[in-house]
Amino acid sequence: MTFQDTGARIAREDRLEKLATVAVQVGLGLRPGQELVMTAPLDALPLARAITEQAYRAGASNVTTLYTDELATLLRFTHADDAAFDAAPAWLYEGMAAAYRAGAARLAITGDDPSLLAGQDAEKVARANRARSKAYLPALELIAGFATNWTIVSAATPAWARAVFPGEPDEVAVARLWDAIFAASRIEGDDPVAAWAAHNADLRRRTEFLNAKRYRALRYRGPGTDLEVGLADEHEWHGGATRAGNEIVCNANIPTEEVFTTPHRLRVSGTVTSTKPLAYQGTVIEEIQVRFEEGRIVEAASRTGKAVLEKVLDTDEGARRLGEVALVPHSSPISRSGLLFYNTLFDENAASHIALGQAYSKCIRGGLAMGEDDLVAHGCNRSLIHIDWMIGSGEIAVDGVTADGVVEPLMRHGEWVSRS
Ligand code: ZN
Ligand code: ZN
Repeated sequence: MTFQDTGARIAREDRLEKLATVAVQVGLGLRPGQELVMTAPLDALPLARAITEQAYRAGASNVTTLYTDELATLLRFTHADDAAFDAAPAWLYEGMAAAYRAGAARLAITGDDPSLLAGQDAEKVARANRARSKAYLPALELIAGFATNWTIVSAATPAWARAVFPGEPDEVAVARLWDAIFAASRIEGDDPVAAWAAHNADLRRRTEFLNAKRYRALRYRGPGTDLEVGLADEHEWHGGATRAGNEIVCNANIPTEEVFTTPHRLRVSGTVTSTKPLAYQGTVIEEIQVRFEEGRIVEAASRTGKAVLEKVLDTDEGARRLGEVALVPHSSPISRSGLLFYNTLFDENAASHIALGQAYSKCIRGGLAMGEDDLVAHGCNRSLIHIDWMIGSGEIAVDGVTADGVVEPLMRHGEWVSRS
């Protein structure tokens, strides 16, 4: 081992500790005595352990980590019986849901190989995803409804790093990806917790501005895009920190740069083209173009991954409708990195985006306390899926349409028009 190697390792361990601190203190806001349920890829073991340490230092009563093994997933696709792809371990997700109901916090470490399942039968992938989504629903509803405090952070794994830095030796690719993760997660300064407080304050100013405006719709214009997205009745913009149902303030995504709300499930019309590839559970879907009529996708095309895209859209009735609309300036730090991460947590924070499927009920005033029928009546979409894809770039203009039809410029060339 050379001196430089040792130096790099110490620097990484120091930054891992800072990332773990931000994950526990800012991401979760973990309360003393609270239980923590964590999921992590095997390759994220050092970060999972650093988080475990910080969680116990913060007073966690118990940290349970479920590790996932991508090779094991591939073995299933290679050897399992065909009928297996309609099955999922419902008991596991029911157990996780029971933990959240009993007050446990939730932390997910992502670092998946974006093209793990690229060579597999699209039909089998779709069936497996559908079975998993269905089994996961009890847990997902609690997470999407912020019944408890939760967060997602990421770890540089070799498979993911190879996708982001193709052609580089693994060690170099992993080191570069860690650098990008640390920078995007705002842990580079002396006091990352204070840096996050300032960032959350910025995002809050933006959401307060948009909430005061109460726009009826947003309009997007750009290459291949001419779209009007009606916003849900009594929608509310969110961004940065969230107060969960258990009163704990958490930051669900690290990094996060977006402000977002709920579109109206029936009031989206026009055409929109994706501006970055979408990595969806092992398949990369590029150059998506869809046309909406009365909120529903009536035409869809993509340059790659079309079979998977079509299967996704046929998941259920809500899969062809929007569940989220989010604004991110083109100058966001992640966008400026110029990297394509093939990971939604990063790519969605590099560009304005929309999501197909399930809406966040917290984006409706009083929505967390509403029943399903009431949410749907407000325009909130329901679906087994929630898939973000990027429609923003330096060439996109966004306008807000007020209740009485006045059109106001919100973003030009991908940047906010007003400074506030
Ligand atoms: Zn989003
Ligand atoms: Zn989303």
